[in-house]
Amino acid sequence: MKYFQPEIETMPLDQLRALQSERLVKQVRHVYDHVPCYRQRMDEMGLKPEDIRGIEDLHKLPFLSKADLREQYPDGLLAVPKSECVRIHSTSGTTGKRVVAFYTQHDVDLWDNCCARAIVAAGGSCDDVVQVCYGYGLFTGGLGLHGGSHRVGALTLPMSSGNTDRQIQFMMDLGATFLCCTPSYAAYLGESLKERGYAPSDNHLKAGIFGAEPWTEEMRRDIEKNLGIKAYDIYGLTELSGPGVAFECAEQHGMHINEDHFIAEIIDPDTGEVLPEGTKGELVFTSLTKEAFPLLRYRTRDICVLSREKCSCGRTFIRMAKPMGRSDDMLIIRGVNVFPSQIETVLIKLGYPPNYEIEVDRINNSDTLDVRVEFPPEQFDDSLGNIAKKEKELASAMRDMLGIGPKIHLVPPKTIARSEGKAVRVIDKRKLI
Ligand code: ADP
Ligand code: ZN
Repeated sequence: MKYFQPEIETMPLDQLRALQSERLVKQVRHVYDHVPCYRQRMDEMGLKPEDIRGIEDLHKLPFLSKADLREQYPDGLLAVPKSECVRIHSTSGTTGKRVVAFYTQHDVDLWDNCCARAIVAAGGSCDDVVQVCYGYGLFTGGLGLHGGSHRVGALTLPMSSGNTDRQIQFMMDLGATFLCCTPSYAAYLGESLKERGYAPSDNHLKAGIFGAEPWTEEMRRDIEKNLGIKAYDIYGLTELSGPGVAFECAEQHGMHINEDHFIAEIIDPDTGEVLPEGTKGELVFTSLTKEAFPLLRYRTRDICVLSREKCSCGRTFIRMAKPMGRSDDMLIIRGVNVFPSQIETVLIKLGYPPNYEIEVDRINNSDTLDVRVEFPPEQFDDSLGNIAKKEKELASAMRDMLGIGPKIHLVPPKTIARSEGKAVRVIDKRKLI
């Protein structure tokens, strides 16, 4: 099985655009009729639902931001009566107050289909055993991939996050062939298997579907090597349902956005201007089929690039590059823009594990950047000369990558806390002032 829904995933572009237009018109009408704050905004702009006749009119609609969602907490954006909803999820609150999202059964069904598409695109079928170790509960990772796995007919192991010993025992005893979790937890599982004396060939895993946080190509190769699998990226956000908004195919050159359900735009984060395909900017999504929590032109703050280039897998959906991180993950240190993912790239390239902590502070009016990095276990040697030499090497490689030199602190293996969900890598003490 190559596609989960072939007629949709490979739909000719003109038909896909027509489908999007038809759905957009309906979605705008639904929002206008049922979400008072959005109707008020459109009214203030003198915009009526009938002014939106197709995707060419999308740019006329106002944006929605995370701040708007927080303002409407908990149910100001709900577009159906609560009695029609069957579930609530909530963001992880990585960057502030949580946002809650509502789902009707129809919303859950379409979301499950999106995750099923991702599993099938990674080579999954009803013959697979899918170990889901994203957190279950309010976080969308667990129940999202769980629903997708069921939809594919795979044997689903609803492990949730944590309890690494049990994860490994079940992975081995039940012959898991697919692993779904955050990339940082996948890296930790790889490390834990090695510590327990397992070689990558000892497990039955074929592939992993990892997302919910930014990760680099270097980290991908590291995980693939340590677990003996092919690692696929998956992207999503609670506001739009959860994981499965976009997924990787075997080509692994960007993630296909499920365009029958979401329209993507890239905008200049400062001016709001829509940028041409291929330009880096902020990703904005419009949902097309959601009943309970439809969002028009929602600003994700994720920075990435879109490409409509033909993909060898046959899918016609546009692809988004791996987001480098959110605009609010970006650190401005002494006037220089720094993404934690750049630091990760340097570390893994030089053979360090992806366990690190970044601390930014302001001392005497000048920003400081300290990076704590773990020694690779096989290279651990605490002679002072060795540590100083390696710290210098790393600092210089980082200066080349970032344009500013951090202070490196090499610490013994396993001293930095591991994450079972989304990793927290940055401590910005400047914000506390
Ligand atoms: P929160 O905003 O509290 O973290 P979510 O759990 O809904 O709540 O997280 C969604 C965000 O996670 C996305 O906007 C994006 O920044 C990040 N994310 C999700 N998947 C990926 C991925 N594959 N690569 C990079 N970032 C991702
Ligand atoms: Zn493809």
